[in-house]
Order: sequence, then C-alpha cells, then structure tokens
Amino acid sequence: MSGILIIAEHIQGELRDISLEMIGAANSIKEAYGGPVSVAVISDDPTSLAEQVNLQGVDDIVTVDVGVSHFDAAIYEEVACQLGAELKPGLILFGHTVNGMACSAAVAARLGSGFASDVFGLQVIDGELLATRSAYGNKVNMEVEFGGKGVVTLALRGATFEAPEDKGSATVTARDVDLSIVTGISRHVEYQEAPPSDIDISKAEFIMSIGRGIQDQENLPRFAELAERLGATFGCSRPIVDSGWLPKPHQVGQSGKVATDCKLYLALGISGAVQHLFGMKHVDTIIAVNTDPNAPIFNVATYGATIDLFELTEALERQFN
Ligand SMILES: Cc1cc2nc3c(=O)[nH]c(=O)nc-3n(C[C@H](O)[C@H](O)[C@H](O)COP(=O)(O)OP(=O)(O)OC[C@H]3O[C@@H](n4cnc5c(N)ncnc54)[C@H](O)[C@@H]3O)c2cc1C
Repeated sequence: MSGILIIAEHIQGELRDISLEMIGAANSIKEAYGGPVSVAVISDDPTSLAEQVNLQGVDDIVTVDVGVSHFDAAIYEEVACQLGAELKPGLILFGHTVNGMACSAAVAARLGSGFASDVFGLQVIDGELLATRSAYGNKVNMEVEFGGKGVVTLALRGATFEAPEDKGSATVTARDVDLSIVTGISRHVEYQEAPPSDIDISKAEFIMSIGRGIQDQENLPRFAELAERLGATFGCSRPIVDSGWLPKPHQVGQSGKVATDCKLYLALGISGAVQHLFGMKHVDTIIAVNTDPNAPIFNVATYGATIDLFELTEALERQFN
C-alpha cells in the first residue's frame, strides 16, 4: 500500500474546487507520506476533465468512463473500491461534500480502511498519518490516528487546503471498471440549480442578522424593513432558515455563507453557536444584542448590549424613519 488516490468531483461538466484542493492536501504530505499521487476522474467523458487536474504534484490521472455524467453514489463507491484494490493506495481522498459523504464511508467500510470525515488538517508523523477534524459540534478539535490500518480513507473539508497553481505533467491512463453490480440501482432524474438569490452574504459589507431571539415569524417583515432602512444585507442564523422563515442564501455560518467581505455585523438575538461564529467571527466590527449576558456571541463581539432586541429595534426605527 503506497501513494494517494484522489476521487475528483465535478458537477455539470465543471470540476469542483474541492478536487483541486485535495491535490493541494496530497502535495502537502507527499514528501513525508510517499507518492504517487493519482487522481481518478469518473464521468462519461473523463478525458475532457483530465487536463484540469493535471496540476503540480499529480503523477497519474486515471480516467474511468462510467457512461453517465452525473454523480451516482453507487458508481463512485464501486469505482473507488475497484481502484483501491488495483492501485493499492495507502490513502484515498474524497471531498467532505454531499457527494463525498454519500460514498466515502461505504468505501472505507468495504476496504476495511481507517476513516475520518470533515478533515481540515493532515500530517505525517514518523510515517503515520494524523488527521485533524472537529468534534462535539465543532467545539473541540481532535487528532485521529489510524494505527494498524494499511489503508485510510478521508473526506476533506472544502476551502481549507490550497490548490496548486502550476500545471503538472501527469500520465493519463484509461481504466475499465466492472459496474454490472451497481447498474440500475438508482435512476438520475434531473439536476436542479438552487433558486437564484439577490442577496450575497459573502460580498456584503454590512450585515444585520437575526436569530431565534426575534421569537415569531410575524416579526420578520419588521426586521427585513429595518435592514433595508439601515442599508444592511439581511442575514440570519440557521434556525430561521430551518423554520422556513427566510431562504437559505440568508444563512450565515458553517452550513450557510461566510461573511467574507463584511466590515460591520449586527447580530440580533443570536446566541453565537460555533457554527454561526464560523461565518462571521472574523468580521472587524461585531455588534451583538442579546438579553443573556453569558451568550457566547459576546466572546467575539466588539460591542455588546444585554438589552431586549425589540427595544433597540424601536429606537433604530425612530432614528431611521
Ligand atoms: C452541522 C451543523 C451545522 C450548523 N450550521 C449552522 C450555520 O451555518 N449557521 C447557524 O447560525 N447555525 C448553524 N447550526 C446551528 C447552531 O448550532 C445553532 O443551533 C444556531 O446557530 C442557533 O441559532 P440562534 O442563535 O438563532 O438561536 P438560539 O441559540 O436559540 O439563540 C437565540 C438567542 O436569542 C437571545 N434572545 C432571546 N430573546 C431575546 C430578546 N428579546 N432580545 C435579545 N436577545 C434575545 C437568547 O438569549 C439566545 O441567546 C449548525 C448546527 C449543526 C449541528
């Protein structure tokens, strides 16, 4: 068992960033762990994507024509298992994405490999892999060892590892995989784009976000109007989206959007769970309003007020009439 096998991801004919980031992750440990670094491209036209993964550090690109362009968990699982058995990599990398999550654990189980998902750190210490992931809802980071496992399968967190910029000189090899066992297990119906949204949390400079503290859906229009009056982009915490009060593009946080360009973040009735902080704790100026003085949002706030958010809202409404 040696080397690293990356299972590339693509959607609608476009390679996803995570595929390139996985190459960056493999490169970061290649010297200590050992190559080769192979990238598997699985599609009905894999050669059209092969050149895009031909980046610095990649030794082989394995193209597998599976006759379908879309992602199918059963097909990816079967291909990864057969390539794992043939190429005998020590490490198999998937993206910690909806696609990767649908098949990586199954691959690990079938190959009897070690496994960790949502990995955001990779090291090799004395020849042994050490993966870092978070646990307990992102409250702690843990290091995972895979003692005694000849093969390790990991699903890597996106936007964490840096993709290489330079072109590579990998060989491209087409491989056949027997898919008779999975043919017809599932049927692809159609691909649906997420509905377009006129808000972009990642580009907004001033965000006013609401959380469960607003108490009732009936109060929502009042806050939407206030955000507009203040010239703020209207954001929210996840429960607001989960309750169907606002669409997903408004959600700030780990499973929502990161407020990348934000300079001022006003958080109304948001407790400051780690998953929410993930999307906004880096913002220069954070103003938090929460009746609970122990709310964790105050740990990242520049200015905090332990007042009823409705009181503040009334005052702002008067001010910005
Ligand atoms: C895998 C995973 C991913 C997640 N991703 C995200 C994510 O991307 N974004 C996200 O936000 N969450 C996410 N969550 C959910 C997260 O853990 C929290 O549950 C959520 O952020 C809590 O939202 P909240 O602060 O609005 O609600 P609560 O935690 O219920 O906080 C409401 C706050 O309002 C305050 N309050 C109540 N009434 C008033 C008042 N009148 N005036 C002032 N303050 C008041 C309360 O003191 C309280 O602190 C995720 C969870 C998981 C497990």
